Amino acid sequence: MTQSDTPSMDPTLDPSLRSWVESANQPGTDFPIQNLPYGVFAASDGTNHIGVAIGDMVLDLHHAINDLALQDLPPEISSALCGSTLNNFMGLGSRFWRTARRSISSLLSEGADPHPHLLVPRESCSMRMPVVIGDYTDFYASRNHATNVGRMFRPDGDPLLPNYLNLPVGYHGRSSTIIVSGTDVHRPSGQLKPDDGPPVFGPCRLLDYEMEFGMFVGSANPMGHRIPMSEAMDHVFGIVILNDWSARDIQKWEYQPLGPFNAKNFATSVSPWIVTMDALSPYRLAGPDREPGDPEMLDYLKPVTDDVLDVNCEVHISSHAMREQNLPPMRISRGSLSDLTWTFTQMLAHHTSTGCAMNPGDLLGSGTISGTEKDSRGCLLELTWRGTEPIELPDGTQRKFLQDGDELTMTAYCERDGAARIGLGSCTGTIRPII
Ligand code: CA
Repeated sequence: MTQSDTPSMDPTLDPSLRSWVESANQPGTDFPIQNLPYGVFAASDGTNHIGVAIGDMVLDLHHAINDLALQDLPPEISSALCGSTLNNFMGLGSRFWRTARRSISSLLSEGADPHPHLLVPRESCSMRMPVVIGDYTDFYASRNHATNVGRMFRPDGDPLLPNYLNLPVGYHGRSSTIIVSGTDVHRPSGQLKPDDGPPVFGPCRLLDYEMEFGMFVGSANPMGHRIPMSEAMDHVFGIVILNDWSARDIQKWEYQPLGPFNAKNFATSVSPWIVTMDALSPYRLAGPDREPGDPEMLDYLKPVTDDVLDVNCEVHISSHAMREQNLPPMRISRGSLSDLTWTFTQMLAHHTSTGCAMNPGDLLGSGTISGTEKDSRGCLLELTWRGTEPIELPDGTQRKFLQDGDELTMTAYCERDGAARIGLGSCTGTIRPII
């Protein structure tokens, strides 16, 4: 894959740009002024406000608009940004997103009048789901992940099923149990099939996470109208970190012939800050790479712009005992969104190729991000090779799958020469006992 030759001329991405919010200028911050991700937080008056993360602070857009600090915004943007979710803003489309971004960047830039009364410390913010998610679809776009899982579940055949390199494989998921980072996850129960006996109902014993990214659809397409590859990126609002919690023992028994069902429907966590495609534009690459001998891609899926996103991710685990002993979380894997065989735009073009309608706030999961190395496998099923190679934790215990009290934290960031480093923040969840 190659970096785009055309440097972006967008002034909001200028790496030398600084903010009057001093913490946004600190090296290593996830939220410099070049990022400006959107989220929703509980304001002091009890209502939910849309905010923008800037350094260690959050710009309260509701207050900024009512205070006339963003008075150059067109009324439809002001109205949408005073809402309690981002859906209306997402539905306005990419031209409006860019207008808002330029205004917010100007407001926060060094040299502008400081407005500290419009800021809230990020640490004190209780984050909410930023979007009402109408529909959620989870894909399976990592060839390394699909190959590893195929080897484990079908050791005698080709690990990739025949359609895998021809279309982005996905399943329709469950939007009702998508939760924002920090929300606890209770161990599910389900129907389990021991190798040597009949099925039983009981607590999941093979509980796992999946390191993924989620893409929020912005502007809609009406039913009956496809989104072609040439227009797909304009429909993408932004991305978050996504943890597709998975019950492997439930999955193993139920998944054939129609795919995952209860194994995936009990919880899916997302990070609270949506990093926009404008912020990610320095991190777009050509691709995705195909391997020699791979089938020719059909025209409706052929990339026409640089749609691969170069975003690094890491997964950390912390057991209850580790936290009691003040031991830091242990990193168990790292990878990159650029490793996927299918891009979010190809998922969108394929998803709508039948005329399926997408709405503002619909969420598409990438599928587990696994690289080729062992330390880049994106779930415990792969990392421990179905439990046969347990991980040693610093508290002296081993993990094959997640135990009650385990806390998973996923982080993600982008960095390259000539662009500001930006981060996606984190996506955390702790496993609690069955209800
Ligand atoms: Ca998944």
